[in-house]
Amino acid sequence: MPYQFNFNLTRISRSFFREIASIAHSKGMHKRIGEAARNLLEKFRIHEITGLDVSEALILLEDFIDIQMKNMIDRERFLKSRRRALLLPHCARKFMDGRCKASFEENIPSYRCSHCSPDCLVNQAATLGERRGYDIYILPGGSCIHQILKKERYGGIVGVACGQEIKLAEGLLEKVNIAGQAIPLIKNGCVNTRFDIQALKRIL
Ligand code: SF4
Ligand code: SF4
Repeated sequence: MPYQFNFNLTRISRSFFREIASIAHSKGMHKRIGEAARNLLEKFRIHEITGLDVSEALILLEDFIDIQMKNMIDRERFLKSRRRALLLPHCARKFMDGRCKASFEENIPSYRCSHCSPDCLVNQAATLGERRGYDIYILPGGSCIHQILKKERYGGIVGVACGQEIKLAEGLLEKVNIAGQAIPLIKNGCVNTRFDIQALKRIL
C-alpha cells in the first residue's frame, strides 16, 4: 500500500538519517519523541525542501523511526540467522518498461535482474546481496512475500520498500518468526523510487 502523498528525501543531508537513528535509540526511554521529531523536521527544513506538509512529514518520520527501532530489536537475531533473502522493490528499477531486461518468474513471483544497466539501483543491490549469499527477489508487490514464504524457509530477511509496505511486511515476518531488517525508500511514487544503497550495504 503506497503513501497517500509523494516524497523525495534524496536531497536531505545524511545527518538527518543519523539523527533518526538516535531518536529511535532513545524511543521508549522518554516520552518526548513527538517533540524531537518536530524539531528534527524544522532543523533539516524538510517542509521547505520537500514540499511536504507537517502532518505528512510527521507520518513519514514516525515510520522511519519505527523501522529503525524494529531493525535494532531484531538485529541480534538476524545476525544469527543462516538462510537469508533480500527483497527489492520493482519500482526502484532504472526502467519500468521493456528497456528493463529482467525476466519475470510468475511461479515465485519475482523479477530476475539481468544486470543490463550498471547504474540501476536494483542491479547494484541485487549484486551486493548475491555476493553475500542472499537469495534475491525483486517484487512487483508486497503480497508476493506471503507466496515466497510458503515455498521457502528463511531465518532472516532484508527488505527494501516504502515505509508503509515495510510495516505491513513486519507483521507477516513476526507471525512466522523471521528476523527482519528493513531499508525504507527515500523517494516514493511507485516509479523511479530511490533508496540508500550505502545503508543497505551496512545492513546486509
Ligand atoms: S539492471 Fe536489472 S532491474 Fe535494472 S533495468 Fe536492467 S534488468 Fe531491470
Ligand atoms: S513505492 Fe514501491 S514499494 Fe511502495 S507501494 Fe509503490 S511500488 Fe510498492
